[in-house]
This record gives sequence, structure tokens and C-alpha cells, in this order.
Amino acid sequence: MTSTELAGTGRIISRLAYGCWRIAPDAEFAGTRGRAAVLAAYEAGYTLFDHADIYGNGRAEEIFGKVLRGVGGMRERVLIATKCGVRKAGDPTGNAPHRYDLSREHILRSCEESLRRLGVDQIDLYQLHRPDWLMDPGEIAAAFEELRAAGKVAEFGVSNFTPTQVSTLQRACPMQLRVNQVEISLARQAPFIDGTLEHCLAEKMTPLAWSPLAGGLLAEGANRVLPSQTAYRTTDILRVIDRIGTANGLSRSEIALAWLLRHPAGIVPIIGSVQPDRIWSAVAATQCELAREDWYRILEAARGECLP
Ligand code: NAP
Repeated sequence: MTSTELAGTGRIISRLAYGCWRIAPDAEFAGTRGRAAVLAAYEAGYTLFDHADIYGNGRAEEIFGKVLRGVGGMRERVLIATKCGVRKAGDPTGNAPHRYDLSREHILRSCEESLRRLGVDQIDLYQLHRPDWLMDPGEIAAAFEELRAAGKVAEFGVSNFTPTQVSTLQRACPMQLRVNQVEISLARQAPFIDGTLEHCLAEKMTPLAWSPLAGGLLAEGANRVLPSQTAYRTTDILRVIDRIGTANGLSRSEIALAWLLRHPAGIVPIIGSVQPDRIWSAVAATQCELAREDWYRILEAARGECLP
């Protein structure tokens, strides 16, 4: 696995991150296959692990914390990222709706709970999961400052923010925001044209790509995609990445990842498979530098039309 810098921090991370969303659909899965997936990622050289307070209703952080305690030296070698801000229906009482909450109280409480479940003293990278329609940048900045002063969080970032939302929050924050975690894949090219990647380049932030394989639609198939991903059509893309993959000795998923890695913004794809062999084989993408001609061939297939 090659490595890169978490932008502007001096902290070195693996070129691919491992995402823990799918490791804990239920307690039994988390304790067996979820645990095996985390261990496979660690052994394959992934050092950035992405979580959220809501993944498996907290089970993902718990099982990760157990692995961390059982493997000597792991805590020192990995960076733990987690998120807060999405509150599911029924939290905290039966009739509460699904909503976003970036109030100071919720950020501080959610961070405490994540620290407890992970069993660590500090979260390396704390991200706001989604922009709260009612967010107050000054209030968020104050919460971040409290967490930093208490040593509970080292670095901060956001997820699913527009460049304007990032800039507005950044102006209120005393610390530099380090990442914007957004959905980027051949099936979702918006960040390439809506200013997200240019903004990351300009502000020295690392773009983390969630669902880099469109939940499996750009690979061997999807088990569970988000509602927004059901409309993705990937047949033409698969035809081209299969052809280029064959020529380069790589699989379609490795080419789909190599396509993201080729961008100068330094996109870090977050791998979501729970199958150890797939977690391992994704690493081959970090050794492949796609030719500009192939990159544009794939882009044309993804756009479904020639560039002007
Ligand atoms: P993904 O890598 O696009 O999709 C993974 C899915 O593809 C798995 O169900 C996997 O199934 C399937 N798949 C099929 N063939 C595969 C292959 N050859 N290699 C790898 N996977 C293959 O990513 P994702 O799981 O949707 O998302 C990745 C991470 O992004 C999450 O874990 C989470 O950390 C983060 N995320 C963040 C947000 C946000 O709003 N910030 C939203 C969604 C996700 P198998 O497990 O059976 O291999």
C-alpha cells in the first residue's frame, strides 16, 4: 500500500482508507465477519479507518474498539476517523424524526459516546456527517475548540459539504478543516465539476471518496445501495473499465479506483467491502497510474457522451 499525507497535518495515511459502515449490520456479523474485515484491512496496510456514530447504531465503533484492544501496536499505527450529526428517527424518543443536529450539545455528547465505544482517549479526525440546515458556524467552531482543548480530537473535517459551506465554517473555525468526505465515483462525477475538488486543492484539504465503487455497481455487484444510487447506470462504464483492466492486468474495481487516484486533488477512496480478499486486492489500484488517454476514455463512457 502506498501512502500520502492527510493534507497539511504531517500525518501519513494509507492511499486507500477503510470504511466501517458495513461491518456491523448486526451483533453476530460484527463479531465475526466485521472483525475479520477490520483485521484484513489492517494487515493489508490500511491506516485510516472511517466510522460514524450511527454505523450499526454504534456497533461498528464498538467492534473496532475491541479489535484495537486485542492487537498490540495497532492504536499507534492507525488514524481513527468518525462522524457525528445525523440523528435517526426515534433518537432520543419514539416520535423524534430523522434529522441533522450540529448543535454544540449534540457534537460534544456524540464525541464522548464515540470515544467510549472506540475505547480511546482521542479521535484522530472528527467529521461533521452532513450539513445541518440549522447549523451555526460559530456554535460549531466553539464545540470544536472545546474538543481540541480537552485533547479529545486532533483534527477536524466535514462530509457532504458544498465548497461554500466549507468556507463559511472555516471562517468561523480557529483550526484548519482537513477533509471533505463526499461521494465520488465514476457513477457520481459531480465533485469534478461543482468545485468540490478545486476547493480541496485550493484549501489544502484531502477529499475522501465515499462509495468509490458506487456501492458495488462498479465492481462485482451491489448488496445494498443508498436510495440516491439506485438510478446509477453503469453498463457502458463497465464495458470500458473491463477492457482497460484486461490490458493492465487489473480488475474493473481496481481500474475504477485507479481512476479516482489519478486526480491531482489526492482523492482517498474509502473501501467498503467486508470480504478480506476484496479488501486486499483493492491495494493493487495504488500501484496503477492510468494513462491520460485511458482516463479520458473512461470519463467519456461515464458521461455517456463526448466532451465538447
Ligand atoms: P463501495 O466500495 O463503493 O461499495 C462497497 C460495496 O461493494 C460492498 O457491499 C461490497 O460487497 C460491494 N462490492 C462488490 N464487488 C466489490 C469489489 N470487487 N471490491 C469491493 N467491493 C465490492 O463503498 P461503500 O461501502 O458504499 O462506502 C465506503 C465507505 O464510505 C463506508 O464504509 C463509509 O465509511 C463511507 N460512507 C460515508 C458516507 C457519508 O455520507 N459520509 C456515506 C456512505 C458511505 P462485499 O462487502 O460483499 O465485498
